[in-house]
Amino acid sequence: MRILLIEDEPDLRRSLAQALREESYAVDVAADGIEGLDKALTWDYDAVLLDAMLPGLDGWGVLERLRRRKATPVIMLTARDGARDRVRGLDAGADDYVVKPFDLGELFARLRAVIRRFGTQAVSRWRLGRVEMDVAARMVWLDGAEVSLTAREYALVEYLAIHRGRLVTRSSLYEHLFDENESTLSNLLDVHVSNVRKKLGRDFIATRRGHGYRIA
Ligand code: CA
Repeated sequence: MRILLIEDEPDLRRSLAQALREESYAVDVAADGIEGLDKALTWDYDAVLLDAMLPGLDGWGVLERLRRRKATPVIMLTARDGARDRVRGLDAGADDYVVKPFDLGELFARLRAVIRRFGTQAVSRWRLGRVEMDVAARMVWLDGAEVSLTAREYALVEYLAIHRGRLVTRSSLYEHLFDENESTLSNLLDVHVSNVRKKLGRDFIATRRGHGYRIA
């Protein structure tokens, strides 16, 4: 899952991006509304975390312009005493909001919820042949035994599982699993696919040579 974080406060931007990466998200960042809107329109993010108070184009301006073109899930980060701001954000098409200073666990839960709603994945526990996964708990089992995946391996499995039964192209995987600094490393994906097969079975991820991957 690839997230865009639009936040002008450098310390918060850095720490939140790092926390998201530790949760296995690929993260792009933008320090102002113009850059953020440009990225949000260019890439298909799985969700956008959008600070309300931004220099130049503020969060509501970004949201309004984004919504003319895209339905990407948006969570707004708003000030503590900004009840009117939150209403304004929801009216403008935000999917949810968190109030600063926010609890990371709450933010992650809301993030998972908007991504799941957007993908219309109401159930959090899936069976995929011998593999079972719980996307709320972020756990994976093979034949009932828990398997430990790295953050990126988990993200790969989750993305393929959301699109199970369908072919997922390599370019789509690159766009959703890697951030803008990593996406030029063309063999990264093969390494992760290979490692997932070692852990979850060779047949778990099928390759359509030259096209992409799928899980049944
Ligand atoms: Ca701000």
